[in-house]
Amino acid sequence: MLEVTPFVDQVTCIKTASPLGDQAIMWVCAYLVGDVLFDAGCANAISELQEYSKKRSVRRVYVTHNHEDHYGGCAAFVPKAEVFAGPVTVKSVYKPYPLPQFFQWVWGEPKPVKEAHKFEESSISVGELNFEVVDLSGHCEEMFGFWESEKGWFFSADAVPLPSRKQMAMPEENIPKMIARMKEIRDLGVKVLFDGHLGPIPNPREHIETRINYLSQLQTQVLSMVETGKTIPEIKTELGFPEPWYLPNTEGRFAIEHLIQSLLEDSV
Ligand SMILES: [Zn+2]
Repeated sequence: MLEVTPFVDQVTCIKTASPLGDQAIMWVCAYLVGDVLFDAGCANAISELQEYSKKRSVRRVYVTHNHEDHYGGCAAFVPKAEVFAGPVTVKSVYKPYPLPQFFQWVWGEPKPVKEAHKFEESSISVGELNFEVVDLSGHCEEMFGFWESEKGWFFSADAVPLPSRKQMAMPEENIPKMIARMKEIRDLGVKVLFDGHLGPIPNPREHIETRINYLSQLQTQVLSMVETGKTIPEIKTELGFPEPWYLPNTEGRFAIEHLIQSLLEDSV
């Protein structure tokens, strides 16, 4: 599935998803700014992305991070566009990592993009717009955001968690680092947060602060539990987070335990 929504003259939100009946399983957002695409959508929308790429001039694709919902659509834009990704992410763009069956259903398996380039620039220009490349590692080992300070636009990928009360995590997520990154974004005075799943969020301060406060309080709570000698399984039981039906299907890629462990053991 693909939905294209112009946000302002220079920015178009391109949402992709796998269908479940006439609904989307889960949307992921890429953004077209001039002839530059930030992220490329998911592989299960590849034919729709190919159609879209014929109509629009996309010259460069910047992949924010190494997750299949963000780089899975890259193959639709080559060879017309050049694909760029950070040094870690580019390895997956060349040779996608194997996906559990559940994620093949949710997002689809990306096709390899052999022509992808490694990018290490600290800023990029798109016409008159100048984007600072911002380190957003935390959600995973390497993630980049794009900050246009004159417009107050921040393309944040998955730096700000989708749920207001995050109750599970991936092993690569460093939650204390995610909290620190969110504070950095909040303090920039962002006018529009271009979120990787929720679309453009105008005046995002409260949206970001809700997530900072919740995760900070959760960290205090689990640290005090561990001080009284509780183990991670005991902390999990006491928190009582509901386990969604699909959790076993993720084959350990998402777990409540990963969230607790990161809050206890990771540092900024
Ligand atoms: Zn991600």
